[in-house]
Amino acid sequence: MSRRRLAVALLLVALAAAYFAFGLGEYFRLEYFKSQQASFDAFQRQHPLQAAAIFFGIYVAVTALSLPGAAIMTLAGGAIFGLARGTLIISFASSIGATLAFLASRYVLRDAIRARFGERLRAVDAGVQRDGPFYLFTLRLVPVFPFFAVNLVMGLTPLRTWTFYWVSQLGMLAGTVVYVNAGTQIAKIESLSGIFSPGLLGAFVLLGLFPLAARKSVDFFKSRRAPGKWKKPARFDRNLVVIGAGSAGLVSAYIAAAVKARVTLVEKHRMGGDCLNTGCVPSKALIRSAKLIAQMRRAPEFGLHPAQVEFDFAEIMERVQRVVKAVAPHDSVERYTALGVECLQGEARITSPWTVEVKTAGATRTLSTRAIVIAAGARPFVPPIPGIDEVGYLTSDTVWGLRALPRRLIVLGGGPIGSELAQCFARMGSRVTQVEMLPRIMIREDPEISDRVLEQFRREGIDVRVGHKASRFLRENGEKVLVCEHAGREVRLAFDEVLVAVGRIANTAGYGLEELGIPVTRARTVETNDWLQTLYPNIYACGDVAGPYQFTHTAAHQAWYAAVNALFGDFRKFKADYSVIPWATFTDPEVARVGLNETEARERGVACEVTTWDIGELDRAIADGEAHGVVKVLTAPGSDRILGATIAGEHAGDLIVEYIAAMKHGIGLNRILGTIHIYPTLAEANKYAAGEWKRNHAPQRLLAWVKRFHAWRRG
Ligand SMILES: Cc1cc2nc3c(=O)[nH]c(=O)nc-3n(C[C@H](O)[C@H](O)[C@H](O)COP(=O)(O)OP(=O)(O)OC[C@H]3O[C@@H](n4cnc5c(N)ncnc54)[C@H](O)[C@@H]3O)c2cc1C
Repeated sequence: MSRRRLAVALLLVALAAAYFAFGLGEYFRLEYFKSQQASFDAFQRQHPLQAAAIFFGIYVAVTALSLPGAAIMTLAGGAIFGLARGTLIISFASSIGATLAFLASRYVLRDAIRARFGERLRAVDAGVQRDGPFYLFTLRLVPVFPFFAVNLVMGLTPLRTWTFYWVSQLGMLAGTVVYVNAGTQIAKIESLSGIFSPGLLGAFVLLGLFPLAARKSVDFFKSRRAPGKWKKPARFDRNLVVIGAGSAGLVSAYIAAAVKARVTLVEKHRMGGDCLNTGCVPSKALIRSAKLIAQMRRAPEFGLHPAQVEFDFAEIMERVQRVVKAVAPHDSVERYTALGVECLQGEARITSPWTVEVKTAGATRTLSTRAIVIAAGARPFVPPIPGIDEVGYLTSDTVWGLRALPRRLIVLGGGPIGSELAQCFARMGSRVTQVEMLPRIMIREDPEISDRVLEQFRREGIDVRVGHKASRFLRENGEKVLVCEHAGREVRLAFDEVLVAVGRIANTAGYGLEELGIPVTRARTVETNDWLQTLYPNIYACGDVAGPYQFTHTAAHQAWYAAVNALFGDFRKFKADYSVIPWATFTDPEVARVGLNETEARERGVACEVTTWDIGELDRAIADGEAHGVVKVLTAPGSDRILGATIAGEHAGDLIVEYIAAMKHGIGLNRILGTIHIYPTLAEANKYAAGEWKRNHAPQRLLAWVKRFHAWRRG
């Protein structure tokens, strides 16, 4: 905590302590007020403005310091100033005092609380961001929730100050009127319990429940009204129709068939979607060939004669297709039909919340279904850079058709897809220039992690241009040229082919979303709630089309929730769990991550300890000739609880699984350290990282005593 914050905190504590030490609470008791009521009345009659100002000031101070007494002062306000003036004064004084308490809590406590619990507060923050004013309003209407607690807790949330102020004033108005009115009758009130009568409290509770009930009813009617304009069939042919047979659609259909639902899977293009045909599978097959080429070039390092690396690019690309073909049966119509899924080859369009029209080669059919899962995936985003269509471009959809190696290749984009493919083509002999507008490639990873990849890329001859914004394409002297903006000047890069890999955009058009009014988010994915429902409670979305992640394993993960909720949601629904999401980029060095990295922890204000361990020290890595890389683990301060891990190095995507399992099942570094790891394996790196953490937390004082103990034992 900063000195200034500490000083403010001490001042506030001192003021509160003074209140109790000097027995000021005596002046905020009903008996005291009643005994002095006549003199207060007299002063008020003689000096009405001064009386109002003094009362206002004391009220603000009491509420701002969260001291007891506001309830009595509200009654007193009614007694002294009457209903109208009393309400006016107290409404403003209580709102201003509450806002000061809110600000004090925010200033003194928020950073410390965020640093300690930042990650766990994310869900609360999201809730406050969405519904904060509404909840505050409800809390204000129901005075059974302590006034000061609401002020202090709200100060810790991201709620805006002005919103807090006006919502508080509005929400407290009804209660203020009731209390001030009770104050006008003060002669008859003997104790606070007279006001806190069960009847009155009940009325407040009803008042408070009203907006909640109203909100729930609005949600309910919205969900009913959305399908309202369509006629619900009396019966359905199917339990589930799944649109798209990529990773998300296949898993949704698989689960539905496994639980004996009648399910139809509609695919307009190729079974397996992007992952099998244009994504994970071909890219990993290409990476394997490119890696072998790179390793063969290193033959002397392994005691071999220099190898003559000869290959035919077209043959490598044919092998890629053979790999796709070998994996294809896993996602095939035959396999899924055997599992009990009806597979239709055709284009699906949602025509109502319960009907899907499927255009097959010869006919159009309409299927009726209780629920629909949209798993329509994403496609490469091609930015509208002037001249791009004229020069022509490749994407991750079309690059697999290449049979001639581009001599000079520009890879536009420094993300995972661009980086993986840039390295492959460079290793196969293309002169690759990778163009990234941001200050570094693989921007989601910590700077020193993306630097490791960058250094390796540069060693392999890739011309990595970070901070270069592609501004136009043109043809110049018979050559294709990309013009970039860099540090205020123009940079011209000549090329033969350009591969655009600047991101992927969800497929949201052309299959009925517009007609049904299903909204898309700002990230242009289908909008879903925590249960993956769209605007229509029986229409779900998962995978790349829904986001927020674009991986096969997250698509499959979401698919479980979408299918189970779609089939059994009337009885029990499950919120999609994004607490432990891993991923890997299959560059060399491979980079894998789960949970937070250091940059994100800092951005989100999550306090953490960072432990790193150099894989260059690992026996197996040395034996393999791969003595490079790092394990970087983030833990909660003073604890072995893992907040996140990043591994850069050989097989990082496999090694990270130990940390994924640990995070998922609440296992800390102590238990990883206590687990036997086979010698000599790369997986030992995980144990050594845990050991490093342990060394940094060795109980030094205790060890000093143990040292003395041993000295004493030696005599
Ligand atoms: C080059 C590359 C490498 C990648 N590498 C990895 C990796 O290593 N690991 C990883 O986890 N992820 C990787 N990904 C990402 C991964 O491929 C996607 O996240 C995953 O395929 C998403 O699955 P999906 O089911 O959501 O969508 P998709 O696989 O895109 O499937 C959607 C399907 O829906 C069909 N469809 C759309 N509209 C309709 C309609 N109206 N009617 C019928 N059918 C329709 C489409 O034809 C498509 O087959 C990679 C992606 C690329 C491009």
